[in-house]
Amino acid sequence: MMENGPSWARILPAIADNDRNLDWVKERSIEYAPAEEIRLISSSTWESQRAYVAENSQFYQNKYAGIVDLKRLPLKHLPEAPFTTKAELQMAQSEEPPFGAHLAATPNTIKRIYKTSGSSGIPLMIAITQKDSATWRTIGTRSYYATGLRSHNSVLTTLGAGPFVVGHTHRVLEELQTRTIPVGPGDTASVIDAFETGLVDTMLSTPSFALYLADRFAKEGVEGQRYGLLHLIVGGEPGGGLPVIRARIESAFGATVTEVMGIGEIAPSLFGECPAQQGMHFCGQGFVWPELIDTNGMPVPIEPGAEGEIVYTHLEREAMPVIRFRSGDHATILSTDCPCSRTSFTVRISGRVDDMFIVSGVNVYPSAIQSVVGTFTPEVTGRTRVVLPPDSVSVAPPVPIEIEISPGTSTSGPLASRIADAIHARLKFRASVVLVGQKAFGTAEYKTALITRKVMRSESD
Ligand SMILES: [Zn+2]
Repeated sequence: MMENGPSWARILPAIADNDRNLDWVKERSIEYAPAEEIRLISSSTWESQRAYVAENSQFYQNKYAGIVDLKRLPLKHLPEAPFTTKAELQMAQSEEPPFGAHLAATPNTIKRIYKTSGSSGIPLMIAITQKDSATWRTIGTRSYYATGLRSHNSVLTTLGAGPFVVGHTHRVLEELQTRTIPVGPGDTASVIDAFETGLVDTMLSTPSFALYLADRFAKEGVEGQRYGLLHLIVGGEPGGGLPVIRARIESAFGATVTEVMGIGEIAPSLFGECPAQQGMHFCGQGFVWPELIDTNGMPVPIEPGAEGEIVYTHLEREAMPVIRFRSGDHATILSTDCPCSRTSFTVRISGRVDDMFIVSGVNVYPSAIQSVVGTFTPEVTGRTRVVLPPDSVSVAPPVPIEIEISPGTSTSGPLASRIADAIHARLKFRASVVLVGQKAFGTAEYKTALITRKVMRSESD
């Protein structure tokens, strides 16, 4: 397994023997296995899982009755099974609280309970058994190890212990044997205090929080490089993979940015980007089976350049196993051939399928607009919000877009029309750009919403 290049040299000056000798590090051969071998392992794991689900999940017994013979469904015929949606799980849980009919383990084996944020509907309770927790730890250690995190690192985290599944990351860091400095979300003062001690070389946060710190450094005339951070690992929302946002964070800290991603219903840290920075590697081999589908739900081969929504099936899950779960994440496959020698595909997420909107018949993701707006830094901060009508995914041009300006930039002058022209040139639709000051979006210490729904024209005209 080759690990080289400038980012590696910066993040990984040397791999300590301690890391080589960790038990789970020795068991990472599947990350470097050929696709066919992974398919064989997954097929055999799936045979036990399908029997377990058919036996124990009332939800799938009902859902697939008369449609799919789950006990005989081979992995290669998985696309014959209907999808599972978040709305179905929410319904199952509200019908049979607290867990829902998709609970496949006995309640006394449930050892941890998280929940989703409910950003797309009501919050969903996520239950795991002891074995599920160990699976999450294995997938999570692969993902964070892929980013370059090692036991010699000193990591400041801005993740709560709960209620969200990201809290499980604390267990992953323990497994990796890093030095960890946990700070709760939104506690900027404690973050800066920790930086001041000189003990932090890595920070785990949302890209919004990293951008917020970058703005703060700019405003207060602080040289972010002086804190000596080498590496920022960002996740929890798309954005950390957008070149303009990434470049802004990297230059503010003088550090390398890599990205991680998970999904509450499946595993908290399922993807990790290696220092080659060519997208996030899928790290759930043997535990989770990924598929890509187009907007009609048809399978799309996972190969470089392919785009679609990612769909997941658990190959090993006791508490709440799902089959063909629609993630709502729209991904582009970047590579299947990385210099780090991992064989898994890498992705960049363009956004939530739910955030997609339609202008004159063309699908647009807010991240595409963010990419254009980001080229106007430092005049703008990069934070962008598309204003859509209250109950429609279609919007007629000009599309109202609110863009946050940096301190010292004027809201009058030609900036708004220059940005509107750039959006028209790149994305082929007209925008009505409204420049807003920093208070308008709040402090954005956690996540920034890319879409807001309101009647805008009557307010601004
Ligand atoms: Zn790689």
